[in-house]
Amino acid sequence: MPDVKSAGRIVVLLGAPGVGKGTQGVRLGRELGWAHVSTGDLLRAALRDGTRLGLEARRYMDAGELVPDGVMIDLVREHLAGLEPGRGVVFDGFPRTVQQAEALDRALAPEGRAVGVVALLDAPESVLFKRISGRRSSPGGRVYNVYFDPPRRDGICDETGEPLIHRADDQPDTVRTRLAVYQKATAPLIGHYDAKGILVRVGAEGDIDQVYAALHAAVGGHRAAHAATTGR
Ligand code: AMP
Repeated sequence: MPDVKSAGRIVVLLGAPGVGKGTQGVRLGRELGWAHVSTGDLLRAALRDGTRLGLEARRYMDAGELVPDGVMIDLVREHLAGLEPGRGVVFDGFPRTVQQAEALDRALAPEGRAVGVVALLDAPESVLFKRISGRRSSPGGRVYNVYFDPPRRDGICDETGEPLIHRADDQPDTVRTRLAVYQKATAPLIGHYDAKGILVRVGAEGDIDQVYAALHAAVGGHRAAHAATTGR
């Protein structure tokens, strides 16, 4: 593994809904031994547990809109506080607005940490639609795709044997809203992180292994270049 561990130990996966942030994030987190923090998964867990946060978030999620920044920032702060200090983190689905990005910087600064690499996963909308409509998730967080990565038994998680879920917000109308919300609220983060010199672009059209290889190389290559210029 290239030397991604040296600076910050924080990777952000950025990209439109359906681009593969969840699948790639789980794998990268596993390989690095870092926490994979998906705010969508945290919200869905809150929803299943029937907490106040879950109930509040539900109407936004079902509509394909973003949950308000204040709610998300509190959720992420609380989650980070529960991790082992200094543990590396792969963020998936957070930050989704410039305000969230700035709040994340403020949350990390007291520990002397910062986002090290932002990997922008990029694929055309036609590919995203197929990925989203074929997506099925297990309650434990493992994500399948009926076209590209099916479970061994139809509708059942290979790892836990639980029934797979077709998310309500993966229905076509909601997907269109989510893609529009991405363009308006989240795409500005591309320029935001590019200006900081920490953005890497990863082609995400290929199959899972190809995209992972590209992500791995981009994250590692960025770290090597950064280390060469900063000595860190
Ligand atoms: P995801 O699983 O990342 O696609 O997230 C599913 C839904 O959860 C989104 O469509 C939003 O409604 C909500 N959500 C997840 N992460 C965020 C975030 N960082 N900011 C606002 N809303 C979020």
